[in-house]
Amino acid sequence: MTTLPIATPRRMRASAWRLLLRYPGQLVAVLSVHGLSAAFGLVGPWLLGNLVEDVAGGAADVTRVAVLVLVFIATQALCSGIAVYLSARLGEKVLAELREDFVAGVLAIPLATVEHGSGDILTRTTRDIDTLARCVRQAVPDVLICAVTVVITIGGIVLLGPLLALPCLVAVPFLWASTRWYLARAHDGYLREAAAYSLITEGLTESVRGARTVDALRLGSRRMDRANRDIAGAYAAERYTLRLRTVYLPVADMSYVLPVVATLVIGGLLHIRGMVSLAAVTAATLYTQQLLVPVDRMLFWLNEIQTGGAALARVIGIECHRPEAHTEGDHDVPQANDVRVRGLTYAYRAGRDVLRALELDVAPGERLAVVGPSGAGKSTLGRLLAGIYRPRTGTITAGGASLSDLPFERLRQQVALVTQEHHVFRATLRENVAMVRPDVTDDELERALRAVGAWEWARPLGLDTPLGAGRVELSPAHAQQLALARIVVAAPHTLVLDEATAFLTPQAARALEQSLQSVLSGRTVIAIAHRLHTAHDADRIAMMLDGRIVETGSHNQLIERGERYAALWESWCRGSEEPAGNIN
Ligand code: ATP
Repeated sequence: MTTLPIATPRRMRASAWRLLLRYPGQLVAVLSVHGLSAAFGLVGPWLLGNLVEDVAGGAADVTRVAVLVLVFIATQALCSGIAVYLSARLGEKVLAELREDFVAGVLAIPLATVEHGSGDILTRTTRDIDTLARCVRQAVPDVLICAVTVVITIGGIVLLGPLLALPCLVAVPFLWASTRWYLARAHDGYLREAAAYSLITEGLTESVRGARTVDALRLGSRRMDRANRDIAGAYAAERYTLRLRTVYLPVADMSYVLPVVATLVIGGLLHIRGMVSLAAVTAATLYTQQLLVPVDRMLFWLNEIQTGGAALARVIGIECHRPEAHTEGDHDVPQANDVRVRGLTYAYRAGRDVLRALELDVAPGERLAVVGPSGAGKSTLGRLLAGIYRPRTGTITAGGASLSDLPFERLRQQVALVTQEHHVFRATLRENVAMVRPDVTDDELERALRAVGAWEWARPLGLDTPLGAGRVELSPAHAQQLALARIVVAAPHTLVLDEATAFLTPQAARALEQSLQSVLSGRTVIAIAHRLHTAHDADRIAMMLDGRIVETGSHNQLIERGERYAALWESWCRGSEEPAGNIN
């Protein structure tokens, strides 16, 4: 049902405990102030109990008791306010860190997975994080407050007389059985509910992204059917959890009334037999009554905590996705940047290899152009060289280290892929370029923007101009230059360009590639060449056909050889506006 993993209940519980105990000192402070507040809350009923006894004995000072009750209520309110403030602050801190961990987890997901599970990631980023936020901000602190209040109040009843605490136990079997029944079903129920919402988001995202295809092939009614099916699934999942609540909550409600009645009746009987005072029975009944509010709130939040647990399992499940080889470890950082490909095979679908036993060597600082007819596997090779896909068989090494074994951070320092899809972030021009290296100076930024031919439009705009949707929007050609400027700043050892200049005119693309060459001197550049002038300018060309490299050599060598590349060049020159002789 979902493309990304979900943390096991054990891992989820361990994470929840880690979150709770992240700041033990502050947690103890919060609980202590709540405890103090609950203790002050016990004084009022105790005074009232004594007042009842005094009234029965005919010697009561009602005014004094009323003033004292008011003083203790005010003190309790003050303590409670401080405690709520402290727990809210702690909750926000934990939540902020949880969000940071989540963002780090999302950024570490391999691109190949992001492409296939974007709806699921979106639901986890929005709905699940919101659910979790509600849980961390409200449910967890309130449950802790209530638990402290319950313990202290029961302690108060025991102090009045251990026998008076017994009626409270009447509710335990009902609450225990109904809560067990609920918990056994709720976690899976809420997970199913969240997964059902993921499916809806995924289906809708797909329909919106592929709107033109849907329209052209008249797939509208099929997409509607899918949306209806997904909504029906979500409805069924919601109904299931609703049924659980409609059974559980009334049983729980009934369980609260029993202890109050029982305390009054049993306490009354004990008083008649002279075993406890009238003051103790009155105070114990009031305490039991006072217990209802925290118990009710705890049961109310139990539901929220179940939903929050399911959300947490999905949020931390993102981290479970990190492929083991890509986690931080004691890997050698490659120094030299020679790229070696040995016996590389890759298949999108089992049994249909699109790369077959491919062999390739790229020397440090070399400019290699990969050419070939459409469908030969050039882009697939580019994505494997950038570490986005993992080989089915064979190896790709950079400076002797296998790309599959490099941690993500190091992989990105080593190899970067630039395609024709460029995202302009909602940030200033400076931030958009400098995000890959925040310590970059303005001079370096200018040099990078000049190298990609962007300075003439970037200078009048200013580095601090906000870009992105709803602000200054760049044309696709300018966005492409921005993406390349980012790469110049990042300066990876090896750069894989796949249609990185597709939005520029052929002349502008060639000029940009030539100026990039001077900026990236000493770096290895592997260019997937859809326009053959890129191949013409490269140090070496690798001609691909049907998932293999069939010819390698310089432009002149391959033209002299007069085989496949020569034929491709001829047909490209005939098809392009520039005659072969003009490209020099
Ligand atoms: P072009 O010049 O048209 O971009 P290419 O040489 O870059 O072609 P690839 O895009 O690597 O070729 O495609 C190689 C083969 O893999 C093709 O048969 C293509 O249909 C298939 N292919 C590419 N991407 C996918 C995908 N995401 N899922 C399944 N098959 C794919």
